[in-house]
Amino acid sequence: MAGWVLKGGEDYLHHLDYIRAVKNPQWWSQECGPKMLAGEPVFAWMNKTQSLFGSAGIYARGRVVRFLPNGRDNENDLRFWRPEAIAEKRDSTKPHVEFEVQTIHDSDTFLSRDVLAEHPLFRNHNLLTLDIGSVRELTDEQAKELDRLLATPIAATSWDLFSQSPDDELRAKATAWVPGNPKLGSIRKPRNHFVPAIALRRSNGRCELCEWTAPKDRLERPILEVHHIDGLQYDRPDAVGAICPNCHAIIHRGQKGGELNARLRILIAEKESQH
Ligand SMILES: [Zn+2]
Ligand SMILES: [Zn+2]
Repeated sequence: MAGWVLKGGEDYLHHLDYIRAVKNPQWWSQECGPKMLAGEPVFAWMNKTQSLFGSAGIYARGRVVRFLPNGRDNENDLRFWRPEAIAEKRDSTKPHVEFEVQTIHDSDTFLSRDVLAEHPLFRNHNLLTLDIGSVRELTDEQAKELDRLLATPIAATSWDLFSQSPDDELRAKATAWVPGNPKLGSIRKPRNHFVPAIALRRSNGRCELCEWTAPKDRLERPILEVHHIDGLQYDRPDAVGAICPNCHAIIHRGQKGGELNARLRILIAEKESQH
Protein backbone atom coordinates (compact mmCIF):
# COMPACT_ATOMS: atom_id res chain seq x y z
CA MET A 1 0.00 0.00 0.00
CA ALA A 2 1.32 3.42 -0.96
CA GLY A 3 0.40 6.90 0.10
CA TRP A 4 -0.30 10.20 -1.60
CA VAL A 5 0.40 13.88 -1.14
CA LEU A 6 -2.15 16.23 -2.68
CA LYS A 7 -1.34 19.84 -3.32
CA GLY A 8 -4.38 22.03 -3.80
CA GLY A 9 -4.72 24.81 -6.31
CA GLU A 10 -4.18 28.48 -5.49
CA ASP A 11 -7.91 28.93 -5.88
CA TYR A 12 -8.93 27.63 -2.51
CA LEU A 13 -9.62 30.66 -0.40
CA HIS A 14 -8.92 29.20 3.02
CA HIS A 15 -7.38 25.78 3.10
CA LEU A 16 -8.06 25.06 6.75
CA ASP A 17 -11.67 26.25 6.53
CA TYR A 18 -12.09 24.22 3.37
CA ILE A 19 -10.82 21.00 4.84
CA ARG A 20 -12.91 21.48 7.99
CA ALA A 21 -16.10 22.23 6.09
CA VAL A 22 -15.79 19.62 3.35
CA LYS A 23 -15.36 16.29 5.08
CA ASN A 24 -15.07 14.30 1.85
CA PRO A 25 -13.29 16.62 -0.56
CA GLN A 26 -12.94 15.66 -4.20
CA TRP A 27 -9.50 16.34 -5.54
CA TRP A 28 -8.82 16.62 -9.23
CA SER A 29 -6.32 13.92 -10.08
CA GLN A 30 -5.95 12.94 -13.69
CA GLU A 31 -2.50 11.43 -13.51
CA CYS A 32 -2.50 9.36 -10.32
CA GLY A 33 -6.23 8.98 -9.64
CA PRO A 34 -6.62 5.61 -11.39
CA LYS A 35 -3.78 4.18 -9.28
CA MET A 36 -5.20 5.31 -5.94
CA LEU A 37 -6.80 2.56 -3.90
CA ALA A 38 -9.52 2.91 -1.28
CA GLY A 39 -8.03 3.18 2.19
CA GLU A 40 -4.62 4.49 1.15
CA PRO A 41 -3.33 7.42 3.21
CA VAL A 42 -3.60 10.92 1.77
CA PHE A 43 -1.73 14.00 2.98
CA ALA A 44 -2.92 17.47 1.99
CA TRP A 45 -0.29 20.09 1.26
CA MET A 46 -0.53 23.86 1.68
CA ASN A 47 1.60 26.39 -0.17
CA LYS A 48 3.62 28.98 1.63
CA THR A 49 1.44 31.74 0.19
CA GLN A 50 -1.68 30.05 1.57
CA SER A 51 -0.19 29.09 4.89
CA LEU A 52 -0.94 30.59 8.26
CA PHE A 53 2.19 28.95 9.55
CA GLY A 54 4.81 30.84 7.53
CA SER A 55 5.87 27.78 5.60
CA ALA A 56 4.57 25.32 3.06
CA GLY A 57 3.75 21.84 4.33
CA ILE A 58 1.19 19.22 5.28
CA TYR A 59 -1.89 20.34 7.17
CA ALA A 60 -4.33 17.44 6.90
CA ARG A 61 -4.37 13.66 6.78
CA GLY A 62 -7.06 11.45 5.37
CA ARG A 63 -7.63 8.35 3.28
CA VAL A 64 -8.81 7.56 -0.20
CA VAL A 65 -12.51 6.73 -0.43
CA ARG A 66 -12.85 6.16 -4.18
CA PHE A 67 -11.77 7.23 -7.61
CA LEU A 68 -14.36 9.03 -9.74
CA PRO A 69 -13.40 8.97 -13.46
CA ASN A 70 -16.02 11.65 -14.21
CA GLY A 71 -16.04 13.51 -10.94
CA ARG A 72 -17.47 16.94 -10.39
CA ASP A 73 -16.90 19.31 -7.49
CA ASN A 74 -20.03 19.42 -5.38
CA GLU A 75 -21.69 22.65 -4.19
CA ASN A 76 -20.05 22.27 -0.82
CA ASP A 77 -16.58 22.28 -2.43
CA LEU A 78 -17.39 25.12 -4.80
CA ARG A 79 -17.96 27.59 -1.98
CA PHE A 80 -14.21 27.73 -1.52
CA TRP A 81 -13.27 28.70 -5.06
CA ARG A 82 -12.84 32.07 -6.70
CA PRO A 83 -16.17 33.29 -8.08
CA GLU A 84 -14.76 33.22 -11.64
CA ALA A 85 -13.72 29.59 -11.24
CA ILE A 86 -17.03 28.38 -9.85
CA ALA A 87 -19.07 28.53 -13.06
CA GLU A 88 -16.37 26.78 -15.02
CA LYS A 89 -15.95 24.03 -12.44
CA ARG A 90 -19.68 23.51 -12.09
CA ASP A 91 -19.93 22.57 -15.76
CA SER A 92 -16.91 20.34 -16.06
CA THR A 93 -16.34 16.74 -15.17
CA LYS A 94 -12.81 15.48 -14.63
CA PRO A 95 -11.13 12.52 -12.98
CA HIS A 96 -11.39 13.13 -9.24
CA VAL A 97 -10.38 11.25 -6.18
CA GLU A 98 -12.63 11.48 -3.18
CA PHE A 99 -10.98 11.28 0.20
CA GLU A 100 -12.11 11.37 3.75
CA VAL A 101 -10.45 13.90 6.08
CA GLN A 102 -9.31 12.21 9.28
CA THR A 103 -7.02 14.70 11.03
CA ILE A 104 -6.54 18.44 10.62
CA HIS A 105 -3.17 19.75 11.72
CA ASP A 106 -2.80 23.23 13.17
CA SER A 107 0.29 25.12 14.22
CA ASP A 108 1.27 22.50 16.82
CA THR A 109 1.63 19.65 14.38
CA PHE A 110 1.63 21.32 10.96
CA LEU A 111 4.44 19.53 9.14
CA SER A 112 6.55 22.16 7.50
CA ARG A 113 8.45 21.78 4.26
CA ASP A 114 11.59 22.86 6.19
CA VAL A 115 11.46 19.68 8.25
CA LEU A 116 10.98 17.50 5.17
CA ALA A 117 13.79 19.29 3.32
CA GLU A 118 16.26 18.05 5.92
CA HIS A 119 14.79 14.58 6.31
CA PRO A 120 16.72 11.69 4.70
CA LEU A 121 13.51 10.10 3.37
CA PHE A 122 12.23 13.27 1.71
CA ARG A 123 15.30 15.41 1.00
CA ASN A 124 15.59 14.20 -2.57
CA HIS A 125 11.95 13.38 -3.11
CA ASN A 126 10.02 15.33 -5.73
CA LEU A 127 7.44 16.06 -3.04
CA LEU A 128 9.39 19.24 -2.27
CA THR A 129 8.92 20.61 -5.76
CA LEU A 130 5.29 19.64 -6.00
CA ASP A 131 3.34 21.69 -8.54
CA ILE A 132 0.05 23.28 -7.68
CA GLY A 133 -2.83 20.92 -8.24
CA SER A 134 -0.63 17.86 -8.51
CA VAL A 135 -0.27 14.59 -6.65
CA ARG A 136 2.85 12.75 -5.50
CA GLU A 137 3.13 9.07 -4.77
CA LEU A 138 4.78 7.99 -1.52
CA THR A 139 6.26 4.67 -0.58
CA ASP A 140 4.76 2.84 2.34
CA GLU A 141 7.83 3.74 4.40
CA GLN A 142 7.44 7.44 3.59
CA ALA A 143 3.72 7.45 4.39
CA LYS A 144 4.44 5.83 7.78
CA GLU A 145 7.15 8.39 8.49
CA LEU A 146 4.77 11.28 7.68
CA ASP A 147 2.28 9.81 10.13
CA ARG A 148 4.98 9.62 12.78
CA LEU A 149 6.08 13.22 12.16
CA LEU A 150 2.51 14.52 12.18
CA ALA A 151 1.92 12.87 15.53
CA THR A 152 4.82 14.80 17.07
CA PRO A 153 4.50 18.45 18.06
CA ILE A 154 7.17 20.10 15.93
CA ALA A 155 6.81 23.83 16.43
CA ALA A 156 7.82 23.58 20.05
CA THR A 157 11.59 23.96 20.09
CA SER A 158 11.61 27.06 22.31
CA TRP A 159 8.81 25.61 24.37
CA ASP A 160 10.64 22.32 24.95
CA LEU A 161 13.62 24.26 26.24
CA PHE A 162 11.38 26.53 28.26
CA SER A 163 9.85 23.66 30.15
CA GLN A 164 12.92 21.46 30.47
CA SER A 165 16.02 23.54 31.19
CA PRO A 166 16.90 25.54 34.29
CA ASP A 167 17.23 29.29 33.77
CA ASP A 168 21.02 29.46 34.32
CA GLU A 169 21.58 26.68 31.83
CA LEU A 170 19.38 28.42 29.24
CA ARG A 171 21.32 31.65 29.65
CA ALA A 172 24.69 29.92 29.37
CA LYS A 173 23.57 28.15 26.20
CA ALA A 174 22.10 31.33 24.71
CA THR A 175 25.46 33.08 25.15
CA ALA A 176 27.49 30.17 23.81
CA TRP A 177 25.25 29.62 20.79
CA VAL A 178 26.91 30.09 17.40
CA PRO A 179 24.71 30.35 14.31
CA GLY A 180 25.88 27.52 12.05
CA ASN A 181 25.26 27.51 8.32
CA PRO A 182 21.69 26.80 7.29
CA LYS A 183 21.36 23.13 6.45
CA LEU A 184 21.21 22.17 2.80
CA GLY A 185 17.73 22.63 1.47
CA SER A 186 16.53 24.62 4.48
CA ILE A 187 14.90 27.93 3.73
CA ARG A 188 15.07 29.10 7.32
CA LYS A 189 18.16 30.62 8.91
CA PRO A 190 19.26 28.89 12.10
CA ARG A 191 17.78 30.59 15.17
CA ASN A 192 18.95 30.73 18.71
CA HIS A 193 16.02 28.98 20.36
CA PHE A 194 17.49 29.53 23.81
CA VAL A 195 16.71 33.24 23.67
CA PRO A 196 12.96 32.85 23.06
CA ALA A 197 12.93 30.17 25.76
CA ILE A 198 14.49 32.68 28.20
CA ALA A 199 11.85 35.29 27.33
CA LEU A 200 9.01 32.77 27.76
CA ARG A 201 10.38 31.68 31.14
CA ARG A 202 10.94 35.30 32.23
CA SER A 203 7.33 36.22 31.30
CA ASN A 204 5.95 33.87 33.93
CA GLY A 205 2.90 33.33 31.75
CA ARG A 206 2.03 37.03 31.48
CA CYS A 207 2.44 39.35 28.49
CA GLU A 208 5.66 41.28 29.04
CA LEU A 209 4.00 44.38 27.59
CA CYS A 210 0.41 44.59 28.89
CA GLU A 211 0.82 42.07 31.76
CA TRP A 212 -2.27 40.12 30.71
CA THR A 213 -2.23 36.59 32.14
CA ALA A 214 -2.26 34.48 29.00
CA PRO A 215 -4.72 31.58 28.69
CA LYS A 216 -3.19 28.16 28.12
CA ASP A 217 -3.13 26.30 24.84
CA ARG A 218 -3.97 22.60 24.46
CA LEU A 219 -0.44 21.64 25.49
CA GLU A 220 -0.77 23.65 28.72
CA ARG A 221 1.52 26.43 27.49
CA PRO A 222 0.63 30.11 27.90
CA ILE A 223 -0.48 31.63 24.59
CA LEU A 224 2.38 34.08 24.17
CA GLU A 225 4.49 34.96 21.15
CA VAL A 226 8.14 35.89 21.00
CA HIS A 227 8.86 39.29 19.50
CA HIS A 228 12.33 40.52 18.47
CA ILE A 229 12.23 44.17 19.50
CA ASP A 230 14.95 45.39 17.12
CA GLY A 231 14.61 42.72 14.43
CA LEU A 232 15.63 39.09 14.15
CA GLN A 233 19.33 39.87 13.95
CA TYR A 234 19.25 41.09 17.56
CA ASP A 235 18.88 37.76 19.21
CA ARG A 236 19.66 38.53 22.85
CA PRO A 237 17.47 38.15 25.95
CA ASP A 238 17.27 41.95 26.33
CA ALA A 239 16.08 42.35 22.72
CA VAL A 240 13.31 39.74 22.83
CA GLY A 241 9.93 39.86 24.59
CA ALA A 242 7.26 37.23 25.21
CA ILE A 243 4.04 39.09 24.50
CA CYS A 244 0.38 38.31 23.93
CA PRO A 245 -0.86 37.89 20.33
CA ASN A 246 -2.81 41.14 20.60
CA CYS A 247 0.18 43.25 21.66
CA HIS A 248 2.27 41.51 19.02
CA ALA A 249 -0.22 42.40 16.29
CA ILE A 250 -0.41 46.01 17.47
CA ILE A 251 3.39 46.34 17.46
CA HIS A 252 3.63 45.08 13.90
CA ARG A 253 0.46 46.48 12.38
CA GLY A 254 -1.10 48.93 14.79
CA GLN A 255 -1.11 52.71 14.69
CA LYS A 256 0.84 52.91 17.97
CA GLY A 257 3.16 50.03 17.12
CA GLY A 258 6.37 52.04 17.32
CA GLU A 259 5.46 53.55 20.70
CA LEU A 260 4.59 50.17 22.17
CA ASN A 261 7.76 48.60 20.83
CA ALA A 262 9.80 51.38 22.46
CA ARG A 263 7.95 50.80 25.73
CA LEU A 264 8.61 47.06 25.54
CA ARG A 265 12.31 47.76 24.99
CA ILE A 266 12.44 49.73 28.26
CA LEU A 267 10.43 47.16 30.23
CA ILE A 268 12.63 44.30 29.05
CA ALA A 269 15.82 46.24 29.77
CA GLU A 270 14.61 46.79 33.34
CA LYS A 271 13.86 43.12 33.84
CA GLU A 272 17.14 42.01 32.31
CA SER A 273 19.19 44.45 34.41
CA GLN A 274 18.34 42.23 37.38
CA HIS A 275 20.27 39.35 35.82
ZN1 LIG B 1 -0.11 42.03 25.78
ZN1 LIG C 1 7.33 40.48 16.39
